[in-house]
Amino acid sequence: MFPLKLKPVFKDYIWGGTRLRDSFNKDCSLDRVAESWELSCHKDGNSVIENGAFSGMTLAEYIEKNGRSVLGANCNRFDSFPVLIKLIDAKENLSVQVHPGNEYALREEGEYGKTEMWYIADCDEGAELLYGFSKNITKDEFKSRIENNTLLEAVKSVPVKKGDVFFIKSGTLHAIGKGILIAEIQQNSNTTYRIYDYGRAGTGGKPRELHTQKALEVTDLYPAEPYPEHILEHKDGYSEKLLSSCEYFTVSLLDIKQYAKLCADEKSFVHILILEGEGIISSVSGDLGFIRGDSFFIPAGCGEFEIKGACNAILTRID
Ligand SMILES: [Zn+2]
Repeated sequence: MFPLKLKPVFKDYIWGGTRLRDSFNKDCSLDRVAESWELSCHKDGNSVIENGAFSGMTLAEYIEKNGRSVLGANCNRFDSFPVLIKLIDAKENLSVQVHPGNEYALREEGEYGKTEMWYIADCDEGAELLYGFSKNITKDEFKSRIENNTLLEAVKSVPVKKGDVFFIKSGTLHAIGKGILIAEIQQNSNTTYRIYDYGRAGTGGKPRELHTQKALEVTDLYPAEPYPEHILEHKDGYSEKLLSSCEYFTVSLLDIKQYAKLCADEKSFVHILILEGEGIISSVSGDLGFIRGDSFFIPAGCGEFEIKGACNAILTRID
């Protein structure tokens, strides 16, 4: 077993920009690169392996061929691949939206619900996002504010800076604001209920569909809870900050000065997403170079590996 370099899937949603190509080295010819799906086994777009004996295979095919043990024992509690990891470049505001929880999504959509986490990888001066309601709201008020276009008056707007972290539990109303580039770690789901779209036209000139009724059924009618402080640990050659730990994913930020000695044990695969810098991922099977924006899947049981070079990376595993 060896680290797999992944090629992402690109999405050209109407609000996307060009920073993933211009700053994150993404090789993509779309006019807009709204999202790159960096770790995906989703039917709407699968990561493809770029190196070694499995080159050209999708990640789903690789798992099929090598067995679920490559995901690690902690993934046995999930029926399907647990997470989806993306880079998102919001040149314009994303729609105000909500994602259902597991029970509702499995019943209504046949897939998991979506709890997600955002790490602000970069943003413009003055950028803001929407995060839950500013105070408790009744379902009737929520509904009438959607109908008379005053929803934004009841939603909490939060100024952001690089390095901020948001935990968006399923049911939390939210919207990424323009000028923000996010690394998103989420449950493996593509179910979004759009509530408000700023009256914009979608591709083909028509407004994009809204899902008001479903949104009314799944949205939490109270402010989102502040997320606890993050714990910083200094280790040999690097520091590690735990960003989020929930039943679906454990995510930390590695700030590597020289090197980080890491391990993919039998319990979980490790995903590495490089946000800054460049270097080498080194394992018993050899070296793989990386630059900003690169993404690696290290199979469970692969054992020790080392990231060499000054860089920042998001590390995701399943605990
Ligand atoms: Zn979302």
